Amino acid sequence: MNCKYQLQWYDNIPIISWLALGGKCRKCRKKIGYAEILAEVGVALLFALSFVFWPAQDQLLLLNISEIIKFVLFLALIVIDTILFIYDAKWREMPTKLLIGACAVAAVFCGVSVWQSYNLHGDYNWLSFVLGLLFLPGIYYLLYKISKETWVGGGDWILCLSIAFVLGNMWLSLFCLFISNMIGCIVMLPIVKSKKKKRVMIPFGPFLIAGFLLVFFLQDIIINFMGF
Ligand SMILES: [Zn+2]
Repeated sequence: MNCKYQLQWYDNIPIISWLALGGKCRKCRKKIGYAEILAEVGVALLFALSFVFWPAQDQLLLLNISEIIKFVLFLALIVIDTILFIYDAKWREMPTKLLIGACAVAAVFCGVSVWQSYNLHGDYNWLSFVLGLLFLPGIYYLLYKISKETWVGGGDWILCLSIAFVLGNMWLSLFCLFISNMIGCIVMLPIVKSKKKKRVMIPFGPFLIAGFLLVFFLQDIIINFMGF
């Protein structure tokens, strides 16, 4: 960002390059920042958590092909969501190409889930899936359209669409909506209060992503809690 130095492959080795360079640019020695190294460690941690909390971990260990495909798609989604997280937190916008990429990966994930469900039970709960779409991306799309992008950003509903595809369930989508807003309130209230401004721009993508991961990892507990 400072001297326009073109990064080489050896500058992009996760964690190792940042540590080797001492967090400074190879050319001008300006500090790179902590977002990069935190993102790299964070992705590694989320990959590990994805395995530990994987809902059908037994199928993964049995090397079930469809479950492995879902796991790999989920890891790809974590990488995309991490970039969106940082982008939105830093610049308060999310690149459309990445949002569409997230939706594409999530749609394939959803397709495999549907296939699995038909294979196992001869059925899929389409009603719950469609209600999930109405609850999460639907609400954000409405807010975005009604407020002409003053309440929520244009990217939020597309991010929600990818989340609803992966969760595939109305209760989980509702929980994601609730938890994301809870996290947003807890994190942003003290900051908003200290600024004493009437209108504050809050990047909402990071909270949606945090809520999504939490609900995905704890989905069995949530579904049991709801009595299904
Ligand atoms: Zn530099």
